[in-house]
Amino acid sequence: MNIHEYQGKEILSKYGVRVQRGVVASTVEEAEKAYQEISELTNSKFAVVKSQIHAGGRGKGKIRGTEQRGVQLAKSAEDVKTIASNLLGNTLVTIQTGEEGKVVNKVLVAEDVYYPGDSEPKELYVSILLDRTKACNVIMASTEGGMDIEEVAEHTPEKIIKEWIDPRVGFQGYQARNVAYKLGLTGNANKEMVKFLTSLYKAYDETDSSMFEINPVLKTSDDKILAVDAKVNLDDNALFRHPDLAALRDKSEEDPMEVEASESDLNYVKLDGNVGCMVNGAGLAMATMDIIKLYGGEPANFLDVGGGANAVTVEAGFRLILKDPNVKAIFVNIFGGIVRCDRVANGIVEAYKKIGEIPVPIVVRLQGTNAEEGAKIINESGLKVYSAVKLKEAAELVQKVLA
Ligand code: GDP
Ligand code: MN
Repeated sequence: MNIHEYQGKEILSKYGVRVQRGVVASTVEEAEKAYQEISELTNSKFAVVKSQIHAGGRGKGKIRGTEQRGVQLAKSAEDVKTIASNLLGNTLVTIQTGEEGKVVNKVLVAEDVYYPGDSEPKELYVSILLDRTKACNVIMASTEGGMDIEEVAEHTPEKIIKEWIDPRVGFQGYQARNVAYKLGLTGNANKEMVKFLTSLYKAYDETDSSMFEINPVLKTSDDKILAVDAKVNLDDNALFRHPDLAALRDKSEEDPMEVEASESDLNYVKLDGNVGCMVNGAGLAMATMDIIKLYGGEPANFLDVGGGANAVTVEAGFRLILKDPNVKAIFVNIFGGIVRCDRVANGIVEAYKKIGEIPVPIVVRLQGTNAEEGAKIINESGLKVYSAVKLKEAAELVQKVLA
């Protein structure tokens, strides 16, 4: 689960990580109040107004149809008013949002930490994530912070410092010192960075996060180290342990179809093709998408209905798939292990009748316990449903019904 920058910063703050301070606002009036608060706190007229959307690249991104950037410096209350009204309620398009962009519902009015007279603020990069091949967390850091870390990783990978964390002993002091040293930090900045990394790792670990990306981490000329941005990704599967973090979810930032799926306990990811898939088990769902492609089709979605496919989940699955106007055929691929195929087949027929007319052909492949009984039920249902037993046959059939 993704959360907003301002929420990520609140978490970091709780763990003692120094962050660029800010106040979040949903309206222009709130933004003006927030500016009041921030400018009193910092005793400065400068502040940055930052669009809060679940995507990066805001600094370079633009509000659709304008030259307005997603992150802007304000030098007065008047500026804040203008910027906030230019951002709020409008669509920000960044390299990460794609063409459709995301609507800005909130802005963060933050202290200007690149203070005037600061001759050399230094933008660094720090992230923590799970390295799946090494099966442990890794801290990555670079002196080349700012906005284009992907470029750095591609063209000058040697500039990315990595420390892998042994899960048996956790993040060690020498590793924090190692990173700080390799970032070229000395004196107080070095000490600050060691503290920063240690607190950051603790926050990552205790919140069961799957990714932290702090870009930029700023080193000010008076040797403070602070998080200017915070991209935080929480592990969905651990959210049950953190009701306070689960409450940070902002559904308006998520794909409405994926939200609906998660409410019916379905695992759904929307794709661009025209063959809707409904499968039990994530591995089988992946294999199903592969075989659809192998036979020249394009999957419209990934959908895992879970182990106990029944009339209720099948109905929810059909309804979800049918919301996608690109879907021209549906491929149901169920392996009856614990759940028997005849029960699944009855579930499909029941769901079909409940929904009424399904406007696209359905190919059902049932394999496993009572597969033949299942196929019989499908074939005798009198519905526009075709059954197949072999995966290959099913994939061919899908292509045939599409043609
Ligand atoms: P992103 O573009 O979505 O990653 O958003 P960031 O939070 O990283 O902000 C983008 C850029 O805005 C940063 O790289 C900075 O250059 C700039 N920025 C952020 N905070 C400040 C600030 O306090 N003062 C100034 N002058 N610029 C800032
Ligand atoms: Mn950033």
